[in-house]
Amino acid sequence: MLIINCPYCGPREESEFACGGEAHIARPLAENSISDAEFADYLFLRDNPKGLFLERWRHTAGCRRWFNVARDTVTHEIIEVYPMGALPRKAKAMETHAASWRRNTAAEKAAQKPVRQKASTRKTGGTASKRRSR
Ligand SMILES: [Zn+2]
Repeated sequence: MLIINCPYCGPREESEFACGGEAHIARPLAENSISDAEFADYLFLRDNPKGLFLERWRHTAGCRRWFNVARDTVTHEIIEVYPMGALPRKAKAMETHAASWRRNTAAEKAAQKPVRQKASTRKTGGTASKRRSR
């Protein structure tokens, strides 16, 4: 049985956890337009590698919180546990993250685009610059 070190509760048996599948899948924003094929890639395609894999796990019988795990799918060795929204720090896990085919997908690029500012926000910026000129 796998022992997983929950970042919030400490080491616990695998039976207390649920695997949530592949980590670091960027969701395109609602206002972004990507093709149907690109959206299907985001929605349905998941890696299943032999070797190091970055996964999401949830401590379902404990704190019920999500976190990421860098785990070797052959040896089940857990190389790193790190919080949601963060990137791995260990070199092997960083390489796996950088080498993923997802790093240049349309969904990931669309999710990284900054959201346009509304016209009312820009007006506020103009008022602020007038104040500075006094
Ligand atoms: Zn926990």
